[in-house]
Amino acid sequence: MYHMDVKKLFSLEGKKGFVTGGAQGIGACLAHAFAALGAEVGVVDINLAKASATAEKIAQETGRKVKAYVCDVTKADQAEKMVQEFIADFGELNFAVNNAGIFTGDGVLDIDAKTFESVIDVNLNGVFYTAQAAARQMVRQGKGGSIVSTASMSAHIVNRPQTIANYCASKAGVIQLAKSMAVELAKYRIRCNTVSPGYIQTDLIATMKDMLPVWGGMMPEGSRLGFPEDLIGAYVYFVSDASEFATGSDLVVDGGYTIV
Ligand code: NAP
Repeated sequence: MYHMDVKKLFSLEGKKGFVTGGAQGIGACLAHAFAALGAEVGVVDINLAKASATAEKIAQETGRKVKAYVCDVTKADQAEKMVQEFIADFGELNFAVNNAGIFTGDGVLDIDAKTFESVIDVNLNGVFYTAQAAARQMVRQGKGGSIVSTASMSAHIVNRPQTIANYCASKAGVIQLAKSMAVELAKYRIRCNTVSPGYIQTDLIATMKDMLPVWGGMMPEGSRLGFPEDLIGAYVYFVSDASEFATGSDLVVDGGYTIV
């Protein structure tokens, strides 16, 4: 009925892009998955040694060109420099995954300004700086592109019993930022979408292991907490041509946490 090459639709063959926070956790898993599907990938992180080790491992396992870049996403000039270095190495930028994020806080009555701002700075400002640098490059190329940012189910619900107003506010900001960018950049065929993961077992929540059964108990019966691999499908959808008609969308992948 439909004469469409479905494998090509989801393939990342010929696509080039970067993942921030790519040295570990969700970002490393995504960088690996993108390379396994044919993409050439930049692993971007604040720690070059860690990013390089991850990039080398992914290159070995997938046979793809994978390179590491150091960038503190809270610095707009470093984001611009990283994209220019990526272009010097790869020649073109087709997708950008703005995924670096941190998690620290205190209750709203106790949190100090520095701690509050540190989370907004990485999770919201940092997403903007790398997304902006990527968008500028994509406009220069004139071929469109896909910008995907990591939000969180914390953009939709308030986590309990932990008190992380700064984190929740930063992630809600990521979604509205992506929608705003989607509207402004549509005329350049640049799509901007977000993924909102539920609890994913990475270093980010490693210090809260005793909370896992508590969070599990807040989910639909029979559901489970997530692993980075559970997010691959959502990001591949947004990076690939399969999502050509999707922009300003947010995809919640949380094992049903936010529906109960
Ligand atoms: P992770 O394991 O802590 O990895 C985050 C990576 O980002 C680390 O390599 C970290 O480097 C790096 N990073 C931190 N600050 C940075 C900066 N200023 N510039 C560049 N890189 C920086 O976390 P994850 O669980 O994979 O989380 C990835 C994203 O998913 C985050 O945006 C997070 O908020 C989001 N998310 C996670 C969960 C979850 O349950 N895990 C749920 C929803 C959303 P260092 O370790 O060297 O600081």
